Amino acid sequence: MSKIKFLGTAGGRFVVMKQIRASGGIWLTLDDTNVLIDPGPGSLIRCLLSRPKLNPKDLDGIILTHRHIDHSNDINIVIEAMTNGGFKKRGVVFAPIDALEEEPVIQKYIRKYVDRIEILKEKETYNLGNISFSTPIKHVHSVETYGLNIYGKGRSISIITDTQYFEKLESYYMGDILIINVVFFEKRKEIPHLCLEDVEKIISANQPKLCIITHFGMTMIKEKPWEIAKNLSEKFGVKVIAARDGMEIDIDQYQK
Ligand SMILES: [Zn+2]
Repeated sequence: MSKIKFLGTAGGRFVVMKQIRASGGIWLTLDDTNVLIDPGPGSLIRCLLSRPKLNPKDLDGIILTHRHIDHSNDINIVIEAMTNGGFKKRGVVFAPIDALEEEPVIQKYIRKYVDRIEILKEKETYNLGNISFSTPIKHVHSVETYGLNIYGKGRSISIITDTQYFEKLESYYMGDILIINVVFFEKRKEIPHLCLEDVEKIISANQPKLCIITHFGMTMIKEKPWEIAKNLSEKFGVKVIAARDGMEIDIDQYQK
C-alpha cells in the first residue's frame, strides 16, 4: 500500500516548542519506497510509537527541505536508526547545501553511515528506489529551501514546504495530491510563511485531487484547521483535509 503518514503537523515556533502538535515530519511509502521528509523534533519517537510501528531501518532515504530546527532536529538520530547505528551503510540523504557546510545540521561523523548524500538544488530531479522527485524552485524563506514534486507510477505528490508566497508559486506544484504548509491564518508580511489567503489562491488555481493542509502555527490552530479545511472544500469543490498527528492517507485511490 502506498501511504502518507503525518508524524507531526506543527509549524511555527510556539506550536513546536510547546508540542501543541507533534513535529515528526512526513513518512511517505510510495511504490515500495520509504522516505522520511523533514524529521523535526520527536520524529524518531513518532516513528517508533506509530501503530503499526514505522521502523527507520526500512527507510530508503531522508529528504530535508531546509535546515530550520522544526524540520531537521531529529535528522542525525534518524540516520543512525536507518543505518542500524552506523553498522549497516545504507540509505540516501537529500539536503540543501547550507545543511552541510558552515554550522551543519547533519553531523560529519554520521554522514559516513549512509550510501550517499545528495545536495538539493533548484530545478533538479533525484531518484530514490522506485520513485523520483524534483525541486522546481528555490523558495522565499530565511534559509535555502525547496518544495518537492514526488513521482510514483502514474501519480504525483507535491509538497509546498515553508515559503513566503511568490508569483506563480502554485504553477510549480501540480501534483495529484498537494500538501501545503500553512502557518498563519492571516497574512504577516514580516515572516516568510504562507497564510490561508495564499492557500486559497493555490487551491483554486491547481484543483488537485486531494489537498492536505499541515504545519500549523498558533493562529491556524485557534481557528480549527478541520473547519478551515471543510470551508475550503465547499468553496473550491476540491477535497481538502487538515492533517492530524498520526493521520495516514491511503494514496492508492488517488492514482490517475
Ligand atoms: Zn522554515
